[in-house]
Amino acid sequence: MNYDFLSPTQIVFGWGRRSELGKLAAKFGSRLFLVSGSRTLERIGVIAQLVAGFDQCGLKTERFEAASREPEVADVDLLVEEFLKRDPTDRDVVIAIGGGSTIDLAKAAAAVATNRQGSSVVDFLEGVGRGLQITHAPLNLIAVPTTSGTGTEVTKNAVISSYQPAFKKSLRSDLMIPRVVLVDPELSVSLPHETTAYTGMDAITQLIESYISRRAAPIPQALALSGLKLAIPALPAVVRDGTSRENREAMSQAALLSGLALANSGLGLAHGVAAALGSHCRVPHGLACAVMLPAALRFNLSVRETELAALERLFDNSHSSDAESAKAFVSRIVELCREVGVPPRLREIGVGIEQLPALVSGSRGNSMSGNPRDVSDHELLEILQQMW
Ligand SMILES: [Zn+2]
Repeated sequence: MNYDFLSPTQIVFGWGRRSELGKLAAKFGSRLFLVSGSRTLERIGVIAQLVAGFDQCGLKTERFEAASREPEVADVDLLVEEFLKRDPTDRDVVIAIGGGSTIDLAKAAAAVATNRQGSSVVDFLEGVGRGLQITHAPLNLIAVPTTSGTGTEVTKNAVISSYQPAFKKSLRSDLMIPRVVLVDPELSVSLPHETTAYTGMDAITQLIESYISRRAAPIPQALALSGLKLAIPALPAVVRDGTSRENREAMSQAALLSGLALANSGLGLAHGVAAALGSHCRVPHGLACAVMLPAALRFNLSVRETELAALERLFDNSHSSDAESAKAFVSRIVELCREVGVPPRLREIGVGIEQLPALVSGSRGNSMSGNPRDVSDHELLEILQQMW
């Protein structure tokens, strides 16, 4: 077996450790571009506190606000322009603080800003652009996630959306893995219930899909097992009570593990369709993954019975065969979705029946290629029709 394992140089994890950000940033230089996406953290004074800390470390901070939506082509191009106006060098550092959308926006802009062979981020997007590659190191980037979901703080791609034409595609390069990642679970305490539920389901979907992916490998699989053991009990608990430190820490840890796992193993059918649900029906990423997860598991059951049985045994060892354990795991996920408020039907998340064929063709991307069982267009359409 051959495999590579990529991860950021430094991961700083712990409750309240955002206070160390200034010191971490000062190692790179003295000018800091702060890209923040959380209005809540702004309102409760967390951002102002951070900026005061940066001042004390002798850093000159310039602020950039990320829109509260999944990043679009124009958003990235605009931020690149803002960066370029300031003649950035490798003595500058970008700090991205927010959910997956903010981090993806900053990751993409930090990469395009130093790779001037293209005129827009589109030129670098897989499958839709000019096929240009990121060949120069991006601006130094410190990623600080405030949701427990996408894991994009540790991955090598940034997902960018477009609605006309509709696509959701990545730019990808090993060089794009953030230099430093700081995960402070306390930052997630102010998340609304719904965001907690959807981003948490995204992390769980990533852990499961990477575990059963056709590119699965031992290190990411070990990470996925630890992540699922934490997340499956913690998510319903933290949706009920968002202030629980223990459960917030568990979800932050699980999300981080999910990012490391997916970055090295790939994903599957649920993420494949989630990209299309995002670009064609504007369904938020975590919700889209969660709605698709039970159907994806049922479809893959016949080729990944042993693996799904192993996941069930993390919680219950009483079943007499792998077949029974694997089925019990699928039921466990269906129940989890119900408990955290994920609707089971596509029509309940704003999908029109006439959109199903476009969803099928929009699902063919990098994620789908990791799915352990080949799925034809006809089979995928049938799955979506049954779920509608
Ligand atoms: Zn995801």
